[in-house]
Amino acid sequence: MTRIPVAEGLFTGLDGDPQLIGSRCTACGIVTFPAQDSCPRCASTEMAEHLLAQRGRLWAWTTQEFPPPSPPYSGPGGRDFVPFGVGFVELADEVKVETRLTESDPDALAPGIEMELVLVPFRTDDDGNEVVTFAFRPVRREGTST
Ligand SMILES: [Zn+2]
Repeated sequence: MTRIPVAEGLFTGLDGDPQLIGSRCTACGIVTFPAQDSCPRCASTEMAEHLLAQRGRLWAWTTQEFPPPSPPYSGPGGRDFVPFGVGFVELADEVKVETRLTESDPDALAPGIEMELVLVPFRTDDDGNEVVTFAFRPVRREGTST
């Protein structure tokens, strides 16, 4: 099965060691994700590609208990739907990224816990490719069983 990204330009490392692709304003230094062509703060169009940190801190989240409206949602629906967490992870004090979370159990999530980037299967497309998207999962501390 071929793995393909859910969208081009979102992340690198399809075969391991993924990083999100953001952009950084060369004029004022603000970092955005997804990458943008112009700066949301100073309107400069001098935006450079900027790979984001792979770990960050959970900032806010909720749980998606039912399939989002489709379109734009294109993942499993109906009885195939599995609830998932969605939230914001702050990366390196640079940028807050809105992301899917691997964890949907509220008891496993807390403000400020360390999260790491992973790529997860999202759906299988009509050509049989495995479409993958990015998510963040809690970093397991040493001595903590899963
Ligand atoms: Zn700027």
